[in-house]
Amino acid sequence: MAKVKKSICKWKKEKFKERFSELKKSMKSPKFICSKCGRAAVEKGYLCKPEEL
Ligand SMILES: [Zn+2]
Repeated sequence: MAKVKKSICKWKKEKFKERFSELKKSMKSPKFICSKCGRAAVEKGYLCKPEEL
């Protein structure tokens, strides 16, 4: 079972470094953007206020 993803909006700098390769994959073709933080991701589960692109 896949572990629950925490929204990248809440990630700290260190976390980004740690999960960079995973993040790169999710940023390749973003389908959602966070209307609150401006971050983009392929799954809306990564964002706190996802909006479809
Ligand atoms: Zn957000």
